[in-house]
Amino acid sequence: VVESADIVIIGGGVIGLSSAYHLAKAGAGKIVLLERQQLGAGSSGKSAAMLSLQFCRDAATLAMARRAYSRYMAFGEELGVAIDFHPTGWLSLATDGSAAALRQQAALLQQNGVATELLDAEEVAYRYPALNVDDIVLATFGPDDGPFDPHMIMQGYARRVRALSVQILEGVQATGIRFAGEPGFHQGRVTGVATDHGFIAAGIAVNVAGPWAGEVARWAGVELPLRNAARTIVVTGPTPAIPADYPFVEDLEVEWYLRPELDGVLMGMGDRPAPPDYAGLDEEQVEAIIERAVHRAPALEDARLQTAWTGIRPLTESGQPIVGSAGGPDGFLCNCGWGGVGLIMAPVAGEMLLFTL
Ligand SMILES: Cc1cc2nc3c(=O)[nH]c(=O)nc-3n(C[C@H](O)[C@H](O)[C@H](O)COP(=O)(O)OP(=O)(O)OC[C@H]3O[C@@H](n4cnc5c(N)ncnc54)[C@H](O)[C@@H]3O)c2cc1C
Repeated sequence: VVESADIVIIGGGVIGLSSAYHLAKAGAGKIVLLERQQLGAGSSGKSAAMLSLQFCRDAATLAMARRAYSRYMAFGEELGVAIDFHPTGWLSLATDGSAAALRQQAALLQQNGVATELLDAEEVAYRYPALNVDDIVLATFGPDDGPFDPHMIMQGYARRVRALSVQILEGVQATGIRFAGEPGFHQGRVTGVATDHGFIAAGIAVNVAGPWAGEVARWAGVELPLRNAARTIVVTGPTPAIPADYPFVEDLEVEWYLRPELDGVLMGMGDRPAPPDYAGLDEEQVEAIIERAVHRAPALEDARLQTAWTGIRPLTESGQPIVGSAGGPDGFLCNCGWGGVGLIMAPVAGEMLLFTL
């Protein structure tokens, strides 16, 4: 398809697109982005679509999220598309076992100037009468979080990188990375990327393959500390008890969450090991989500299940992403392991990659 480039990017999710944008904007040379299916076909098209600061549990993550958040506030101006952000807020609910951690998290957010209120169960019941607070000992509310549109974000990046002469090749799968010299420990630098449509000579290969990043890294002799975890999303039909201006509600004890979606709700839960291309629907998980929904918001008992899907969160052991060479040969770069927050972090992920060139 293309015979040569300076940089080949492997993966067309939000991280690959942001990487392409930041590299192209910095004038890094001729860039080709490979996507085996269509842009957004991986985790980026299967998320809960939340932009958040409230999820942050450590100072480094919070610093990245704040920078990403401010980049998103200027996204329309910078990239010419609306990300459809609705800051309806984020409500975290803690039972006995999770209250101490939530209190600590709230302190970190408040110390860093992120608007975060501490609420008791009575206050939650008063503001959100649809919620069962019988077992709630502490809650926090952050007004600045809310849903946005991942497809518009990806479209914004894709349109701009094309204008910056990046070639996006959909339906083209990378099948290997080639290196100078003998394969093995003393492997030389990257010389190109093999694809199912031919070889592309290039000095730099960027692994932004999301859940497939472990496989791509093995081509470079690198074992990444990645763990792919399947999470199920369920969307219901109309739920009059949960109106459209309801916040994202997170039930920390079981990592279950809910937010309005059109005139119904979207709910998510689950953390099961799965292969990168897992697309099945785990009935047991769907039932667990519904069971928790009926406990936490009893009015949801009457809701009709409309659609459900499973997505993969590419998690790392440390909880921090992997950006840079990861100990691989010269010219091999990773930008992966963004776990459950890759959409939030995408603008920063692209910026960070620049520092590793
Ligand atoms: C249920 C769920 C809810 C989530 N909710 C949120 C949320 O609310 N907010 C948030 O910020 N994050 C959320 N996330 C996380 C977020 O979706 C991910 O962190 C993010 O999408 C990762 O983007 P990525 O570009 O690294 O991976 P992906 O989007 O998976 O992109 C990788 C791409 O690489 C392609 N690819 C793989 N191998 C090859 C190859 N050999 N050749 C060519 N192409 C290849 C794949 O087809 C894929 O399109 C959620 C995730 C899940 C599963």
